[in-house]
Amino acid sequence: MDPAAQNPFRPLPAVEEVLADPAAAALAARVGRELLVRFVQEELARWREEIRARGLDAAAVRARLEGGELALALAARVRREEGSGIRRAVNAAGVVLHTGLGRAPVHPAAAQAMAEAAASYCVLEVDRFTGERNRRDDRLSALLARLTGAEAGLAVNNNAAAVLLLLNTFAAGRATVVSRGELVEIGGSFRMPDVMERAGTRLVEVGTTNRTGIDDYRRAAGPDTGLLLKVHTSNFRMEGFVAEVDPAALVALGRERGIPVAYDLGSGLLEAEGATPLAMLGAEPRVRAAVAAGFDAVTFSGDKLLGGPQAGLVAGRRAAIAELRANALYRALRLDKVAIAGLEKTLELLLAGRGDEIPARRMLFATADDLRPAAEVLAAAAAAIPGVRAEIAAGESQPGSGSAPAVRLPTWVVRVNAAGLGAEELAARLRAGEPPVFARIQQDELLLDPRTFLAGDLERVAAALRAAVEGAG
Ligand SMILES: *Cc1c(COP(=O)(O)O)cnc(C)c1O
Repeated sequence: MDPAAQNPFRPLPAVEEVLADPAAAALAARVGRELLVRFVQEELARWREEIRARGLDAAAVRARLEGGELALALAARVRREEGSGIRRAVNAAGVVLHTGLGRAPVHPAAAQAMAEAAASYCVLEVDRFTGERNRRDDRLSALLARLTGAEAGLAVNNNAAAVLLLLNTFAAGRATVVSRGELVEIGGSFRMPDVMERAGTRLVEVGTTNRTGIDDYRRAAGPDTGLLLKVHTSNFRMEGFVAEVDPAALVALGRERGIPVAYDLGSGLLEAEGATPLAMLGAEPRVRAAVAAGFDAVTFSGDKLLGGPQAGLVAGRRAAIAELRANALYRALRLDKVAIAGLEKTLELLLAGRGDEIPARRMLFATADDLRPAAEVLAAAAAAIPGVRAEIAAGESQPGSGSAPAVRLPTWVVRVNAAGLGAEELAARLRAGEPPVFARIQQDELLLDPRTFLAGDLERVAAALRAAVEGAG
């Protein structure tokens, strides 16, 4: 036999040959010829690698090509390309502030304000009544002050930015005193000591991992101290022989020594008058209480327990807020018009006594009894799919996003088993469907938690399940 015919690389087509196929032309029309060329090159390289690694012979390669494997792989690459990026998803995982799924879904009124600000000109840095230039977050700051009881407010891109601005403004080139037990790492590589270094401040750790008192701060506070900082350990909980510094005592120490005092709250539980308290979160610190304790600045996220768009909010004393605003970094960290529009609307809802309508809060309030009917409807819809077993079971949802980590919210979940499909495979198919559905896997079982459903999601999940299971056939 001709030895060349036995060369397993010989059957592989040239890039141009693949592109000449009418099916490839259709794919090129979807993602552009240039990208498709790259996909073909990468796919052929993958084939060559597999031939080498697995010692495939020419006959095996030919059989694969004749079976259309290359064309199928290219079509899958194109589908993946088209299906990538930010898009609507269904959260069936029961984690209310799911960082991977964009944290808080904003109130429809906030979403509308954001869409309008994005699509049109808007009144951003001008007072429409006097025609004079003003600041983009003047109103937002006023709303924030009213809602928190603070003298003034300020908003930046996220809470990480707020902390960076805080440290840089008050303690660049000087020391920041923090409890050893509060040097937290927030997901996404936000480590308090690293942020301090970037902000140009020197970290002075006081106390021990489990116990810190006011005397620890008192001993460390000196002429070179720029800031006394307290950090809410939002994403973990220490139990046992523990003590953290009392906020009021820390504020008093700051006043006595003339050193600014700040509290990074993170999750930012902001209870407005008239709204039902989020009592299920237990001892989670309240923004209003921190402000009332007299901190110069209190920082928290816009998209955690507040239920708004991504932002870092600062509430505090007038002089401190003015200093933050005067820092040149503020210009680099400020919010865009879209986020401001969504935040103003979210804060207005809270001030109008309509806080209970905010989706994240509504989801946190829901009791197991509230959720049971949705779980039953979904279980019935799932069980009607051939090959699927589904039943409801008592379960637990989570606030998420590092907020109240020890808190579990009683719920009803739907346990789904599809014949011939493992839980991981079923979850992967649900994620790959349109819209993507994110479920939870627990002990090799797929669970769907209706707590985090928005309007229409129950029907979306039922349809997604059917598509995922039928795709198995
Ligand atoms: C979440 C959190 C941050 C970071 O906030 P982002 O808005 O995610 O940037 C900082 N500090 C604490 C204590 C947090 O909980």
